[in-house]
Amino acid sequence: MKKIAILGSTGSIGTQTLEIVREQKDIQVTAMAAGSNIDLLEAQIREFRPALVAVWDEKKANEFKDRTADLGIRVVTGMEGLLEVAEEPQSEILVTAIVGMLGIRPTIAAIQSGKDIALANKETLVTAGHIIMPLAKKYGVSILPVDSEHSAIFQSLQGAAGNAVYKIILTASGGPFRGRTPEELDSVQVEDALKHPNWSMGRKITIDSATLVNKGLEMMEAKWLFDVKPEQIQVTVHPQSVIHSAVEFEDGAIIAQLGTPDMRLPIQYALYYPKRRCLSGGRLDLFDLKSLTFERPDTKTFRGLALACEAMAQGGNMPAVFNAANEKAVAMFLERKIAFPDIPDIIEACMEQITFEESPVVEQILKTEAEVYEFVESRW
Ligand code: NDP
Ligand code: MG
Repeated sequence: MKKIAILGSTGSIGTQTLEIVREQKDIQVTAMAAGSNIDLLEAQIREFRPALVAVWDEKKANEFKDRTADLGIRVVTGMEGLLEVAEEPQSEILVTAIVGMLGIRPTIAAIQSGKDIALANKETLVTAGHIIMPLAKKYGVSILPVDSEHSAIFQSLQGAAGNAVYKIILTASGGPFRGRTPEELDSVQVEDALKHPNWSMGRKITIDSATLVNKGLEMMEAKWLFDVKPEQIQVTVHPQSVIHSAVEFEDGAIIAQLGTPDMRLPIQYALYYPKRRCLSGGRLDLFDLKSLTFERPDTKTFRGLALACEAMAQGGNMPAVFNAANEKAVAMFLERKIAFPDIPDIIEACMEQITFEESPVVEQILKTEAEVYEFVESRW
């Protein structure tokens, strides 16, 4: 039995991870963490029987403890709870499926406890990649990408035999507003932005896909995962989402991974790497494909992507500023407090406002996040 722990078991990635556990039958979930959806969490623990469960919200954690008293599981709460789940002694792999910079400390704790990381929580790598990657090397653990593009790149690099990457082709669907002008984005509503053409995901990342901020975060994620320079990453809009990303080598050969848009494949690949397992559900039939098209991204309309490039070029705590500003702005957009085009405006204002730190330690990254939140709350 392979033993895993999951941060964010009730979310989009978390539930799909559990679908794989259910289907494959040789993975044991030793610990799980969720935010506040204790109804789903209760059903999950009754099915998967982990020994340790974290519920972020303290009141809900107490309620959860009462409800599940018959099971004899340990229930923990808050950041201490997340850290306990991350370090749970029996697990070999931690699936990081929570959203945002909240993932930084548990990811570090898991690495220091010798766990491999199946990394979905890209915000952790974007803001603390300079800490995470050397730490993983020091502790001899693997960072296995779950993000579909990065899994595609990782899969394309298998068998590369040490040959250098010339270029990474990072594909993007373009989101629901591809082809629109900046003016056409003024009146966009939350419901419109939540309609992703190809993927079904959590709310935050779906908005990030509509602004193309997600692709900006993924550029930074790729930089850390594959040790490439920003100029080696080419974002390519590919609306059909069939090619999940590709690697170009020195000789011009491009190796890509193709498939249906199903997150279970990259999750399963990360859990069983380097082995492949049968996966239920639809398969890609090339005869069904009419055409595969490619466009340059429109960074004038989708300014979030241009700002991400700038944050990546500046480095230091600027990716943390970019990410924290986006997290806050997206939350405000989802609460209907700001308009869609305010998202890049807020990011830009924060990047101009917040003090630059050349090589921030974890405390400084979290301080940057707090400063950004405070600034945004005072201005919008
Ligand atoms: P969801 O919003 O669907 O799920 C988030 C999960 O995190 C839920 O289980 C939620 O619990 C939990 N959570 C939220 N706050 C806390 C907290 N304070 N403590 C503990 N748990 C918490 O997100 P996604 O699954 O879409 O995304 C997860 C990560 O994976 C993100 O970083 C995203 O960028 C990345 N990713 C997602 C993809 C996708 O297809 N969804 C694709 C590629 C990357 P609850 O619901 O109980 O509050
Ligand atoms: Mg992705």
